[in-house]
Amino acid sequence: MTGTIIIAGAGLCGARAAFSLRERGYEGQVVLIGSERHAPYDRPPLSKHADDGSLSIQYVAEEASYSAVGIEHVGGVAITDIDPTRHSVTLGDGRSLTYDKLLLAMGARPRLLPGLESLTKVVTLRSFDDALKIRDVIGPGRKLAIIGGGFIGLELAATARKLQTSVTIVESMPRLLARAVPAQVASVIQERHQLEGVEVLLQAGIASITEDASGVHLHLADGRDIAADLVVVGIGAIPNIEIAQAAGLAIDNGIAVDHFMRTSDIDIYAAGDCCSFPLQAYDGSRVRLESWRCAQDQGIIAAVNMLGIATPYEGVPWFWSDQYDLTLQIAGLPGLAVETVRRELSDGSFLLFHLDRDGRLVAASGIGRGNAIGRDIRLCEMLIAAKTHPKREELVSPSTRLKSLLAA
Ligand SMILES: Cc1cc2nc3c(=O)[nH]c(=O)nc-3n(C[C@H](O)[C@H](O)[C@H](O)COP(=O)(O)OP(=O)(O)OC[C@H]3O[C@@H](n4cnc5c(N)ncnc54)[C@H](O)[C@@H]3O)c2cc1C
Repeated sequence: MTGTIIIAGAGLCGARAAFSLRERGYEGQVVLIGSERHAPYDRPPLSKHADDGSLSIQYVAEEASYSAVGIEHVGGVAITDIDPTRHSVTLGDGRSLTYDKLLLAMGARPRLLPGLESLTKVVTLRSFDDALKIRDVIGPGRKLAIIGGGFIGLELAATARKLQTSVTIVESMPRLLARAVPAQVASVIQERHQLEGVEVLLQAGIASITEDASGVHLHLADGRDIAADLVVVGIGAIPNIEIAQAAGLAIDNGIAVDHFMRTSDIDIYAAGDCCSFPLQAYDGSRVRLESWRCAQDQGIIAAVNMLGIATPYEGVPWFWSDQYDLTLQIAGLPGLAVETVRRELSDGSFLLFHLDRDGRLVAASGIGRGNAIGRDIRLCEMLIAAKTHPKREELVSPSTRLKSLLAA
């Protein structure tokens, strides 16, 4: 197949799609256009603590490898408009390019607190440049306030503590990680943060935020004031859908795609954090995920489908988070469960199996040191995909190997 494939968004998903096109033998033009100045890089390390404490950019692929396989990477310029009728996109610098197929891999951006745009000491974390700004401020004797007890805020809190920064987390909900993580796992995380010296304020509303030469001041609704050198807002992300919406593509909590990552326009695909898609393992329930592995796999699947090889995306949602020496993992959709069964593992690690009202395993989660739960969660993903109904007593007992449930 020849012609031109344009990929909008040079993140993990876009980069994986571009290389997959070449790996599958596509000989046409591949243009990867990204609004960031950097070549595609991984975001997970931006909030985590490297062994040596340093922050460096982790490229998805060596910069030279793009030109080596004929991928044209255009960095530092956004696509501002899509014209599906003329099969063209307009770039921020005024250029117009035509495509045969277009992949939208534009990711998501941090949700902002309204009215704080003019404050320079209130920031968000999504890009390498954001992470550099935060690293410039944190360190011994410095104070960081984090609004939002979600993954990014908590990982950043752990990193800041390792770098001897004072940290306060301000969360409006009654517990941390309330949106996506079972309470039993979240409470381990909360206890560990408190043990490490993080001040965790729950059910805390923000009345206002001000800044002056001395720093930034959080004024809480209950009258408390928190002074910090920097405030990081980590209250979730919003998918980048605007140019797709303006082009008339179907939107449903993200750019809506089918199992083949195809949008409502036959020649336009979408993948990664910007899209919502039907989940094969849950009878087509539509979700949007913000997950590294999903973005990578969907980029590859979108590429294959753009080449005309019909291949559905069949992944089970999976996410991990590293905080201190703990790793938590979640597979599937715990929100669908009505019952949770717990299995104790060695060294304080545990697994939770989440069952729906028919006893089907719809999700599994857990927490442990290092990769203690990694293999078991991988097996749970297979059990979830296979729509199994394991017996509760087998799930509780560590002597029942999960692999044997799969075989059954
Ligand atoms: C700090 C941090 C830590 C994370 N940690 C984890 C983790 O531990 N585990 C996990 O599973 N996931 C984690 N994630 C999530 C994971 O990184 C994302 O799911 C993944 O990056 C999504 O990839 P993507 O390519 O879809 O989108 P993105 O990585 O957001 O890339 C999209 C790119 O498109 C660009 N773009 C947007 N609009 C346009 C336009 N109009 N024209 C051109 N370019 C455009 C953006 O600037 C961006 O560079 C983390 C994310 C962050 C921010």
